[in-house]
Amino acid sequence: MGDTIKYLLEEDQIPKYWYNIAADMPEAPPVLHPGTGQPIGPDDLAPLFPMELIMQEVSQEREIEIPEPVRDIYRQWRPTPLYRARRLEKELDTPAKIYYKYEGVSPTGSHKPNTAVPQAFYNKEAGVKNIATETGAGQWGSSLAFAGKIFGINVKVFMVKVSFQQKPYRKALMETFGAECIASPSDQTQSGKAILAEHPDSTGSLGIAISEAVEVAATNDDTKYALGSVLNHVLTHQTILGQEAMIQMDMAGDYPDILVGCTGGGSNFAGLCFPYIGAKLRGGPDVKVVAVEPAACPTLTRGEYAYDYGDTAHLAPMVKMHTLGSAFVPPGFHAGGLRYHGMASQISQLQEMGMLEAKAYHQNTCFEAGVQFARAEGITPAPEATHAVRGAIDEALKCKEEGVGKTILFNLCGHGHFDMQAYIDYFAGKLKDEDYDQDELAMALAGLPKVAAE
Ligand SMILES: *Cc1c(COP(=O)(O)O)cnc(C)c1O
Repeated sequence: MGDTIKYLLEEDQIPKYWYNIAADMPEAPPVLHPGTGQPIGPDDLAPLFPMELIMQEVSQEREIEIPEPVRDIYRQWRPTPLYRARRLEKELDTPAKIYYKYEGVSPTGSHKPNTAVPQAFYNKEAGVKNIATETGAGQWGSSLAFAGKIFGINVKVFMVKVSFQQKPYRKALMETFGAECIASPSDQTQSGKAILAEHPDSTGSLGIAISEAVEVAATNDDTKYALGSVLNHVLTHQTILGQEAMIQMDMAGDYPDILVGCTGGGSNFAGLCFPYIGAKLRGGPDVKVVAVEPAACPTLTRGEYAYDYGDTAHLAPMVKMHTLGSAFVPPGFHAGGLRYHGMASQISQLQEMGMLEAKAYHQNTCFEAGVQFARAEGITPAPEATHAVRGAIDEALKCKEEGVGKTILFNLCGHGHFDMQAYIDYFAGKLKDEDYDQDELAMALAGLPKVAAE
């Protein structure tokens, strides 16, 4: 066999169900009302989400059927390929086998449309006309813009200001799909105005942008809200990629010893790992699971496992999760998709259960890995994805040291074609390896809500 080894599936092998890991986990800590601190029910979320998505959010069913119209749109780019990184293995001179699932073949170049399409679909079924959302790097905004256009829904995107300025192409892509893109903090909402009054030069954060979008949805009857990560139903939708990967690894005649994914809010990581973790929870094969995050926004490695607000203005529900505090604003580093102050509740709970290992890396070492990967495999990873590449390469180098040939599977969650400025800055030696600010973090953590349920 040559060095190009890929595993392709037929269209009719697109999974018919999403996998819901809640069915295989201990009971989750309740979600709390941001004002009263009391557990909330489906009706409390109804102003923000269509009921079908709320029911998925609280579902205990292991399998959730994928509606046929959603599968039909998935067919445009799914099943996605799984590759064996033979040339990278040779370059590293490692006895490990390295596989990667490639989600960059989607219309917007990442895994995000896997959930944008069903979210737009369920909103359309519920008669919703407008969706407000936030975006960090612009991956989610452009994905929801694409999905909204397909189902005839207007999409308004609050984009974190630092990314809005750094990534004009992502804004143009959203506008190409017919969406409106606004720099956040903006003067269109009370939450945005409050931030601007205090910090006129604020470069924004996901927490602030979420507040703006939630406010627009909560104060307009014809508008709902959508989130591209963190929530249970989002993680569930992403399992389509991990289920495909399982079939493809079967085709390869291998089972992963090690899984690696990058974690922002946790959705692409969950997409790859949850089907495997679920198998393990049901008594299946053991697998080491590595979550890689940026040292500048180290939710899993440095955050506290506590109840926190999902957004800066405390409009979104409180969730028990690993958090840096909802007031935390990470330094402006380039992996814009990895800047959220919290981690998905289910992933946080799995870490507490000892089901995963978390690692934090600085950005220069991640770009170094990204460039090495691109030169070997011909795909330029998104800045977020370089974290997974770094993690996978380090596992492969450890195999070399130990002289053991393990099987590594990582998620290449997106390509970096809209992020080449970050590569330009890397080549020019302009990327700073920033740590989170210890004092600011301590302040943000001191602001964690006091919650009776704990
Ligand atoms: C949004 C995004 C991320 C971070 O979000 P997760 O929910 O953690 O997956 C990572 N990589 C890419 C390419 C993204 O677009």
